[in-house]
Amino acid sequence: MCAVFVAGAGPAGIMTASELSKNGWDVTLIEEHPNVGTPEHCAGLLSVTGLRELGINANNCTVNEINGAEIFSPSGHKILVEKDVPVALVISRKEFDLMLLKDAIKNGVKVEFESKLIDVRKENIFIQKKNRGELRKAKVVVGADGVNSRTREIIGVKPDKSHYLNSYQIRANGSFESKKVKLYLGSFAKGFFAWIIPENNSIARIGIATSFGINPKEAFDEFKKKYLLDFEKIEESSFKIPCGPPINEPINNNILLVGDAAFHAKATTGGGIIMGLNAAKICARAIDSNFRNNTGLENYKFLLKPITKELILHWKMRSYLNKLSENTLDKLFIRAQKANLGEFLSEHGDMDWPSRFIPKMLSKPRFWGFLPMLLRFR
Ligand SMILES: Cc1cc2nc3c(=O)[nH]c(=O)nc-3n(C[C@H](O)[C@H](O)[C@H](O)COP(=O)(O)OP(=O)(O)OC[C@H]3O[C@@H](n4cnc5c(N)ncnc54)[C@H](O)[C@@H]3O)c2cc1C
Repeated sequence: MCAVFVAGAGPAGIMTASELSKNGWDVTLIEEHPNVGTPEHCAGLLSVTGLRELGINANNCTVNEINGAEIFSPSGHKILVEKDVPVALVISRKEFDLMLLKDAIKNGVKVEFESKLIDVRKENIFIQKKNRGELRKAKVVVGADGVNSRTREIIGVKPDKSHYLNSYQIRANGSFESKKVKLYLGSFAKGFFAWIIPENNSIARIGIATSFGINPKEAFDEFKKKYLLDFEKIEESSFKIPCGPPINEPINNNILLVGDAAFHAKATTGGGIIMGLNAAKICARAIDSNFRNNTGLENYKFLLKPITKELILHWKMRSYLNKLSENTLDKLFIRAQKANLGEFLSEHGDMDWPSRFIPKMLSKPRFWGFLPMLLRFR
């Protein structure tokens, strides 16, 4: 019997396994695919501060550095958020996951590929390994098996269908501004937005996500037509993104959920790596403390509170934006331009932790016109 069995070798699972193994626990990590980071289901945009705070040096998997973003309202009003230093990195997800995995293996994690978690009954874990069923035993099981989590299903948690997005993303050749990300809001991207994330001047990751039930490929074509975008597709992918509040009960007996499996992704942007990695460290801490001091595993929920609070804030912002008509969104952009929101966000903005800048907005008279909206986000 191993101490901890982690299902899913994405960033959240690898980090949880790695942290526990570093503390001396016997950890097995399984992944249903033959390697990590594939199929690539990510635009790979990570904040520089988020990585720094996690103590991760992603230089070796960085393909581009980003200085800012242009955000477009449905009629094309623009908010520019920009710094003269990089604020985000565009990474290769495959290389990033591989880098985390190499560290985890160094820390002693045992990894098994082409192994799929099928069921868990207390300390018994049923897996499928290349068409053969196997039984494993572990004291604690971590479900880090992503947006379609089997572990989440096993503990009986069923997120609302409306809390998922469908995405469609391509890598394309074209002509792009290499240091800026572009985000486009409008009815073509109901419930979310479209994005252009450059790898360099001639290659970008262009995508869209839309409310569940809407065909994201058709939405993408509408977006392309509206903005008369000219590019040549290299490759394409389509995946679900969790876009709702974090799961209320990410723990059930000896099973803990982390990362996308627990909806630890930001509902404003769909980004789940930084929050998932932070949650993974907390998950490892809760398990470690259970083994060492006999603290109940339910402590995980308590330790997660700062992240849960922030993710709920992201969800409140997303829910608010989704209720606005195109016309109201345009008006909001015009008011934001007049109040120099772009300038404020360039100085104080934070892609991951909006709670760090919203109180600062409340203290500036030029944003008091937004008070009813801002108060919803407290
Ligand atoms: C189009 C798109 C763009 C995105 N862009 C960004 C971005 O720019 N920045 C950002 O931060 N986030 C982004 N995200 C979100 C990000 O990809 C996820 O939040 C992140 O991958 C979640 O990490 P995770 O470890 O929780 O899950 P995953 O990375 O999904 O890893 C879960 C792993 O579990 C494995 N697995 C699943 N079921 C089982 C099973 N039963 N047994 C064993 N293994 C299993 C899977 O194969 C997978 O490897 C994007 C997502 C999409 C779809």
